Amino acid sequence: MRTILVVGGGYAGFYTAWGLEKKLRRGEARVVVVDPRPYMTYQPFLPEVVAGSVEARHAAVSPRRHLRTTELINGSVIKIDHEHRTVVVRPAVGPEFPLPYHVLVVTAGAVTRKLAIPGVAESAIGMKHVEEAVAIRDRLLTAFDQAAVLPPGAARSRLLTVTFVGGGFSGVEGFGELMSLAHSLVRKYPTLSAGELNFHLVEARDRILPEVTDEPGRWVVRHLAGRGGHVHLNAQLRSAVDGHIVLSTGEEWDSELIVWTAGNGANPMVHNHTDLPIDARGQVIVRADLRIGTDDAPVADAWAAGDDAAVPDLAINRPGVATVPNAQHAVRQGRLLAKNIIAVLRGREPKPYVHHSLGVVATLGLGRGIFQWRGIVIKGFPAWVMHRGYHVLAVPTWERKVRVAAVWATALFFGRDIVSLASVQHPRRAFETGGEPAATSTAGRPG
Ligand SMILES: Cc1cc2nc3c(=O)[nH]c(=O)nc-3n(C[C@H](O)[C@H](O)[C@H](O)COP(=O)(O)OP(=O)(O)OC[C@H]3O[C@@H](n4cnc5c(N)ncnc54)[C@H](O)[C@@H]3O)c2cc1C
Repeated sequence: MRTILVVGGGYAGFYTAWGLEKKLRRGEARVVVVDPRPYMTYQPFLPEVVAGSVEARHAAVSPRRHLRTTELINGSVIKIDHEHRTVVVRPAVGPEFPLPYHVLVVTAGAVTRKLAIPGVAESAIGMKHVEEAVAIRDRLLTAFDQAAVLPPGAARSRLLTVTFVGGGFSGVEGFGELMSLAHSLVRKYPTLSAGELNFHLVEARDRILPEVTDEPGRWVVRHLAGRGGHVHLNAQLRSAVDGHIVLSTGEEWDSELIVWTAGNGANPMVHNHTDLPIDARGQVIVRADLRIGTDDAPVADAWAAGDDAAVPDLAINRPGVATVPNAQHAVRQGRLLAKNIIAVLRGREPKPYVHHSLGVVATLGLGRGIFQWRGIVIKGFPAWVMHRGYHVLAVPTWERKVRVAAVWATALFFGRDIVSLASVQHPRRAFETGGEPAATSTAGRPG
């Protein structure tokens, strides 16, 4: 029996394996997914995890529950040797081992783009994974608890200052959601006031949210500023040492929480450790039917999709333009990938990937959002409802949809949970100290 090996069980990988399971005949092929995480992250929910509107666990979809016949291997692929049809897997524990296959699917996604700015590696936190979203939320809640007992001054002001670096989709959504949480939270703290909150969004370009056109982009800036946010355009972060922010514009401030949302970088394994064709940005070169290679130089038995692949965008039909890295594409590419692999296994021709954008919808905080499809722009509450409606329908499996919708429904009556569980980072502390809770340092420093 042939082995179809899927490297990375995120959006594209999960949908590929799911599609293969549904369509493969008994004994036709065995599907194996390798991923270091035991779940697929529904990343569009992370801004709402940050705000406490979606439970962290509900943004994590378990392949073990939903993939019935696929074999799941918990580990990272550290090398792809396609010539010999073998990958090397590094499991969480135990020695590395080779894993042979017949058909390869590369869906390992992208990583958070890093820039060598002093202090960022030590002080900032990303927003691509569930644990990061949970930590951002806990740090804000902990900062409020700490600030509430301090007298007005620099220390208190620093605790109530949040900085997002990167005004793309995830940065703007996270910023809007966290600001919305902070403004509702401050009412529960009689010693604090909304005027003390400082929310900064730093963007190197002259506009945020490049996924929408100029005027809606400017509206989002005005909207965030109207809610008290400071949006710094044409400004680059120069330093964040010890939480002290310095911008290229000369502006400086102290910030307890720094969230790094400066875009995607190439997956280092895909970029550096394969014998597959890779482009200048570190993405796998694929043809329109998602087979790896070019029409002139095809690579047999190898497929790729999602954020790690440069898939020609036939909907735009301009040579050299690849589909943008988003879930809208990753899901559809994953589904088509499953169909195309089966087609080739059965001697049929695979189909090209063509998807015309459904538009862009972003949350800007509880009850606020923006939607754009071509010339149609919807702002505010209706866009936010569309955002929630779209994502609750898009999150894979009915089980997840019901859980997420149930939390939203409960929040309508009781509001969001507002306790920090930062102490879960130190589960033995209370046991060791005889009941003293774990330190509530907000910046992840030991304490
Ligand atoms: C905060 C946030 C909000 C977003 N909101 C939206 C939105 O509203 N709409 C939208 O369309 N898109 C959104 N996106 C983008 C979208 O989530 C991504 O484009 C999508 O997840 C890409 O899917 P993927 O399968 O390529 O990668 P991923 O979903 O990232 O999956 C990659 C998988 O590969 C695994 N992996 C990595 N390296 C290895 C390795 N060496 N070996 C084995 N496995 C490996 C990873 O653990 C992961 O499970 C958002 C992204 C973020 C961060």
